[in-house]
Amino acid sequence: MKITIDKNSGFCWGVVRTIFMAERELDKTQNLYCLGEIIHNPEEIHRLEVKGLKTVYRDDFPKIPNSTVLIRAHGEPPETYRQADKYGITLIDATCPVVTKVQERIRNYDDQNYQIVIFGKKNHAEVVGLLGQVKGRGLVISSLEEVASVDVSKKTVLFSQTTMDKTAFSRIRDKLKKRVNELIVDSFENEAIQFITKDTICGQVSGREMKLREFAKQNNVILFVAGKTSSNGKVLFNICKEVNTNSYFIENENELMYEWLDDAESVGITGATSTPHWLMERVKLFIKEKFKKSSLINI
Ligand code: SF4
Repeated sequence: MKITIDKNSGFCWGVVRTIFMAERELDKTQNLYCLGEIIHNPEEIHRLEVKGLKTVYRDDFPKIPNSTVLIRAHGEPPETYRQADKYGITLIDATCPVVTKVQERIRNYDDQNYQIVIFGKKNHAEVVGLLGQVKGRGLVISSLEEVASVDVSKKTVLFSQTTMDKTAFSRIRDKLKKRVNELIVDSFENEAIQFITKDTICGQVSGREMKLREFAKQNNVILFVAGKTSSNGKVLFNICKEVNTNSYFIENENELMYEWLDDAESVGITGATSTPHWLMERVKLFIKEKFKKSSLINI
């Protein structure tokens, strides 16, 4: 059996930067708070907890005055910065620059009185941070069905959470455009209605799609390693599943089932932008060591 780790998988540069900033502080102080889980990967969180990282939430600020808190790549609404200031908290801001840019663009369109519509997950930290830029005035839609809730008679701009699926975004955009066009025909208010789309899906997620499809095709079985709460993990796993029905989502090697690998000549290991390389290596090693002992598989 050939086991290959996808060379295009592993942390995106935004996550690399966040982990680097956290470890730099932990090396100095062995004590750092992170606002929310630093990434959607329990294994990596545990590794950093051993070094002194503790996860806190904004409600905890009154209990940790004058401490140092890391803002993770998802970013935060302005209110978080105000609360930190109130309690004398020093922030290490590891908001991904891609997210910072989206926050800026949303503020700009809000200033021009556009209705802000965000395709994303309602309670996802990044979306909470984006909505916070416009004091919650934006509308979040998560599915095609929810397009019906948008008042298209207002001038509107559509954004996306950075980790959403590109095809789903295109469908939402097309349905919104169709509604706008219908309204134009019905009302003859051609010039009054403006609809703009800003595809703010991160290239680190969308750029992987083609390569991932190829990788999923090339292997009999795909083991997709990611935290269960990872948004881009779900998007990327669905891509694998579309191409290769023998694709399995695991958080770590302990969730692996022997029978998945029956008759497999090639196993591909891949993951989300928040999956550390060392974890995929560990899964590979596990298969090699455990399954070699089993009479089921020859490696
Ligand atoms: S996926 Fe993109 S936006 Fe998200 S942390 Fe990585 S680089 Fe930044």
